[in-house]
Parts: sequence; C-alpha cells; structure tokens
Amino acid sequence: TIGMLAIDKKGNLSGSCTTSGMAFKMRGRLGDSPLIGAGLFVDNEAGACVATGLGEEVIKIAGSHLVVEFMRQGYTPENACRLAIQRIIKRNGPKARDMQVAFIALNKAGLHGAYCVQKGFQYAVCSSDTNNRLIDAKYAL
Ligand code: ASP
Repeated sequence: TIGMLAIDKKGNLSGSCTTSGMAFKMRGRLGDSPLIGAGLFVDNEAGACVATGLGEEVIKIAGSHLVVEFMRQGYTPENACRLAIQRIIKRNGPKARDMQVAFIALNKAGLHGAYCVQKGFQYAVCSSDTNNRLIDAKYAL
C-alpha cells in the first residue's frame, strides 16, 4: 500500500491510499485499502491515519478509525498507532510474529507518527520548512 496524509496551512487534513498491486490479491479479496475506517480514515477534527500490511488484521479492528479515535482522546499520533498495533498483537498472540502491519498518523497540529508490528517500516516526511526525510517507525516485536 502507498498511503499519504497531508495537512495544509490552515490545518485541514486529507489522506489517500492505494492497494499494493498483486500482493495478497487472490480473486475476490478486497483488502483494507478500499475500506474507509480500515485502511484509511480522516476526520478533520481529530486526525488522519493510513494503514499498510496484512489488511485482514487492519479490518478486524477498524484500524485507521481506531487510531483517529485515540488521537481524538488526546494520544499523540505515534502512541495512537502503538495502541492499535498492540491490539492486533494481543488478538493474535504468537501468530503476530509472522505478520506485518503499520499505521501512519497525523494530527491537527501537524505532528506525525507511526508504529508497526515488526522492525523494517519507514515513512517519508515532506514539508516546506524541514528537509524531506525518511523516518524509521518504532516497532512492537
Ligand atoms: N494492506 C494491503 C492489503 O491487505 C496490502 C499492503 O499493504 O501491501 O490489501
């Protein structure tokens, strides 16, 4: 999945995502990317989130919506993503070691963060006042 979140000068949030192409795409499978609330959720009052990885697990917890709701409660984007990742890990027990899911989130203040199940996920930050850069997401396992 390619997921993108943006904030404009007025603090308006937006987001979009693609599916990953052929990966995981058996006939009839939908994945999380086209499901608002799973692969992507944007609420201009609370925050924006996009997911990548094993879409079935993202769907089961309405992952991007969950992350946005955590931000509405006051969690930072990174902590909101961490709580959703921990929920996936708790649901799956030892099986979580064989899966990768990551969330990226952005709040109304322009603070961004990410969290993933396994090491190895990066996201890019582009803005006019800082250098464009790649950030290693924190990981749970
Ligand atoms: N989330 C996508 C899906 O499950 C796959 C991906 O992130 O590459 O369809």
